Amino acid sequence: WSSRDFSWTKELEVHNKKVFGNRSFRPNQREIINATMSRRDVFVLMPTGGGKSLTYQLPAFIEEGITLVVCPLVSLIQDQIMHLLQANIPATYLSANLEWTEQQRILRDLLSTCNYKLLYVTPEKIAKSDALLRQLEILYSRGHLSRIVIDEAHCVSQWGHDFRPDYQNLGLLKQKFPETPVLALTATATASVKEDVVQALGLANCIVFRQSFNRSNLRYIVMPKTKKCFEDIDCFIRKNHHKECGIIYCLSRMDCEKVAEQLREYGHQASHYHGSMEPFDRAEVQRLWSKDKINIICATVAFGMGINKPDVRFVIHHSLPKSIEGYHQECGRAGRDGQPSSCVLYYNYSDYIRVKHMITQGSAEQVTSRPPGRSVSKHEQALQTHKENLLCMVSYCENDVDCRRFLQLIHFGETFDPSHCAKTCDNCLKGLRWIEKDVTDIARQLVELVSSIRQACSSSHILEVYRGSMNQNVKKSNHDALPLHGAGKNLAKGEAARVLRHLVTEGILTEDVKKSDYGSVSSVLKVNHTKAGGLRSGNHIIVLKFPTPEQ
Ligand code: ADP
Repeated sequence: WSSRDFSWTKELEVHNKKVFGNRSFRPNQREIINATMSRRDVFVLMPTGGGKSLTYQLPAFIEEGITLVVCPLVSLIQDQIMHLLQANIPATYLSANLEWTEQQRILRDLLSTCNYKLLYVTPEKIAKSDALLRQLEILYSRGHLSRIVIDEAHCVSQWGHDFRPDYQNLGLLKQKFPETPVLALTATATASVKEDVVQALGLANCIVFRQSFNRSNLRYIVMPKTKKCFEDIDCFIRKNHHKECGIIYCLSRMDCEKVAEQLREYGHQASHYHGSMEPFDRAEVQRLWSKDKINIICATVAFGMGINKPDVRFVIHHSLPKSIEGYHQECGRAGRDGQPSSCVLYYNYSDYIRVKHMITQGSAEQVTSRPPGRSVSKHEQALQTHKENLLCMVSYCENDVDCRRFLQLIHFGETFDPSHCAKTCDNCLKGLRWIEKDVTDIARQLVELVSSIRQACSSSHILEVYRGSMNQNVKKSNHDALPLHGAGKNLAKGEAARVLRHLVTEGILTEDVKKSDYGSVSSVLKVNHTKAGGLRSGNHIIVLKFPTPEQ
């Protein structure tokens, strides 16, 4: 879209400086503003910190009428409104946490004075408030509804990592107000999520802006997660970011508390943050962290959307993230000020089983509490996508050769020349020396071994049998008598495990979670015979990259 001059160009430049205090526009901002002010529907993919807010706040300030902004979190809305009011831009919001009389007053004011430039709402307001829709209809009929902004638009998509049911209703806005331009903004979307969002919002002819998702100031590291993980985290922070501000993402609420406690024992100022805390306590932890009274926040992924702290110097993942999109966005909270920052992921394959279990359980709960009209099969489809997303994440972590930036960006459909990484990821730092090895025979043997064992067993058991272990479990189950027992005994350490995990990420083997009567969770490996067909017939060759031996 054009960056040429429009009738509003001069005004944009003046107010960008005077009202918003910016010296110039950042990449794409001017083009996006021109497109939306030309009344086109626009879809924007811009990384966190890229400056998406300006693309609707500046037009809202200049134009007549009200801009409706749908935003998922009240805390994020309050933060935006505070900044707008500081800049003397009249803005308000409606959400369920306001007193009823206050909500009535705001609704009345919308029409009677037309004083507001921006009205922020949570998505459930659109779904549930007829009074709001009536006022919007009046504004629209008077030509005063100047723009509809959908912030964090990826929440519309079931395939996205952050689906929110209330976002699904937002398609009605385009139906009710077809003449009002829509601006959908997100910092994360794969091609399929983008398509889904565009369709759900009814933006068939929208202009799409897409910016590189590469965050060159972030360095990406995957580290093995061992029993001394807390010690490793402590060491990493001390060595690289002593007393600096960071986030540690944990899988469960209990993990958050445990990690925070351990770090405090190591002398760090750390607190936990998760959904089971009282809202006041949660807000207090966030406040202390924002004001640098606490350095480290150990949180579930509930913490983050709308966190605007510019100087977060590190984001650590204590467990496997659920998808590359989620991971990329969580990492994106580091270094918003452009300064070098670190993203470290502690990876252990066993977390895959834990996360998969959580995803499956969460989905089962959603099926039982699903809204009327939502079919079970839609849930099943979504569950399948979430499982695939998780496997992509496993495969990212398992890859100890390719540039991390390249691997992330390719996921978003972007190309990236690894030589531009400049050793800012662990794999490039290792020097990219690797050899390709045909592991088809090993893969075939592992598949045969899994299918020859009738009873349920885990990947670690299969590996033990394959490597010729004579431990108690192997002997008790008579698996030392299997023809493939010990077939992999001469392989280098970790090689068979790597191939087995590759078979899981390819879907040739599936590893499911089994819960015992006593509540303990173990995994069960099975062969997906359809996918294994090519391997058995010799049509499917598997070549993996391994670091060269001298490293
Ligand atoms: P996003 O929503 O894309 O994550 P924001 O809109 O919150 O990003 O902007 C991130 C930061 O960049 C904010 O502090 C904002 O004031 C600043 N910013 C946005 N546009 C510009 C600009 N043109 N020049 C300088 N700073 C800008």
